[in-house]
Amino acid sequence: MKNHVKQRILVTGGAGFLGSHLCERLLNDGHEVLCVDNFFTGSKHNVVHLLGNPYFELLRHDITFPLYVEVDAIYNLACPASPIHYQFDPVQTTKTSVHGAINMLGLAKRLQAKIFQASTSEVYGDPQVHPQPESYWGHVNPTGLRSCYDEGKRCAETLFFDYHRQHRLPIKVARIFNTYGPRMHPHDGRVVSNFIIQALKGEPITIYGDGSQTRSFCYVDDLIEGFIRLMDSYPEFTGPVNLGNPGEFTIRQLAETIIEMTGSAAELVFQPLPPDDPRQRQPDIRLAREALGWEPKVRLEEGLIHTIAYFDDLLRRAA
Ligand code: NAD
Ligand code: UDP
Ligand code: UDP
Repeated sequence: MKNHVKQRILVTGGAGFLGSHLCERLLNDGHEVLCVDNFFTGSKHNVVHLLGNPYFELLRHDITFPLYVEVDAIYNLACPASPIHYQFDPVQTTKTSVHGAINMLGLAKRLQAKIFQASTSEVYGDPQVHPQPESYWGHVNPTGLRSCYDEGKRCAETLFFDYHRQHRLPIKVARIFNTYGPRMHPHDGRVVSNFIIQALKGEPITIYGDGSQTRSFCYVDDLIEGFIRLMDSYPEFTGPVNLGNPGEFTIRQLAETIIEMTGSAAELVFQPLPPDDPRQRQPDIRLAREALGWEPKVRLEEGLIHTIAYFDDLLRRAA
C-alpha cells in the first residue's frame, strides 16, 4: 500500500476501540474507509465524528454472515476483546472468529485483496515461556472460560495461513498485546478502564489476586502505527508478529500509578483472581523491530494522561 494512492479499505469491528482509531488514521492517510460493525461492543458514538466525511461509510453487519463488497484491502478486527464481553455469548465469539474469518478470507480471495488479522497475545494462553516470541506455540486450555476467545483466535490464524498457502492470499497477522487509550469500553472490566474509573469516582480499586501478576500496556496510537507498518511490509512478510509494549508492570504498580496521577483517595481492595488468569505477559517485539522498524514510543504515564482525560470527560457528561 502506498500512502499517496487512495485505496478503499474495509475495517471490520471499525466502531470498536481499536477499529475507530484505525478508521481515523486511514482517513487521515487519504484512504476511503468502509466500516463494518454489528455494534455488539462498539458504538456509533466512537465514529460519530467521522460520519460527516464523504470518504467514510458505516455498515451495520455481522461478519458471521457473508459480505459482498468491493474493496482493495481488509483489516479484520471484529471480535469482542474483553472477557466480560466475549464470555457473554461464547458460541457467538467463536463464530465471529472462525465463521467471520472464513467470510472475510472468502471476500479477500474473490478480490485478491490483502487482509490483516487482529490476533492476540491470548494465543499464547498462560505462557510458560517469558517473554513470548512468535515461535512459542502457547499453553492454552481448550475447554475453559477463555477458550472461546483463545481457540477462536488460534483457529482464525490457522485459516489465514491455509488461505495464504492454498490460495496465495496476501495475509498479515498481528498478535496484539494489551492496549489502552481513549474509547476503551467503560464497562468492559479491563484493568486500565476499571482502575481509572474507580480512581476518578473515589471508589475502591479492585485488584484481582495479590496484584503481583504482570501485564504490558501499549498506547493505542503506537499500536495503530504498527498495524499500518505491517500492512505496508514487504509482500512475503505474513507475520504472525507481536505488537505491544514490552514495558512490564505488576497490576499493583498500575493501581498505584493511577491513584497518584488522579490524586484519588481510593483504597485498594483485593478480590479473587479469575480462572485461567495469566500470571505474566510481556511481548517479545524483536521481530516487529527488525521487519517493521516499529517500536512503541508512548510511555505509560503519558498514555494514561490521555486516557484519564477521556474517562474524566465521559464521567462528567454522564453526571
Ligand atoms: P472492541 O470490542 O472495542 O471492538 C470490537 C468490535 O467488533 C466492536 O465494535 C464490536 O461491535 C465488533 N464486532 C464484534 N462481533 C462482531 C461481528 N460478529 N460482526 C461485526 N462486528 C462485530 O475491541 P477492541 O479492543 O477494539 O479489539 C479489536 C480487535 O483487536 C479484536 O479482534 C480483539 O480481539 C483484538 N485485540 C485487542 C486487544 C486490546 O488490548 N484491545 C488485544 C488483543 C487483541
Ligand atoms: N464470501 C463472502 N464474500 C465474498 C466471497 C465469499 O462473504 O465476496 C464468503 C462465502 O460466504 C463463503 C466464504 O466467504 O462461505 C468462504 O469463501 P471461499 O471462496 O473460500 O469458499 P467457498 O465459497 O468455496 O466455500
Ligand atoms: N484485573 C484486576 N482488577 C480489575 C480488572 C482486571 O486486578 O478490575 C487484573 C486481571 O485479573 C488481570 C489483569 O488485571 O490479571 C489484566 O486484566 P484485563 O482483563 O485488563 O486483561 P487480560 O487479562 O485479558 O490481559
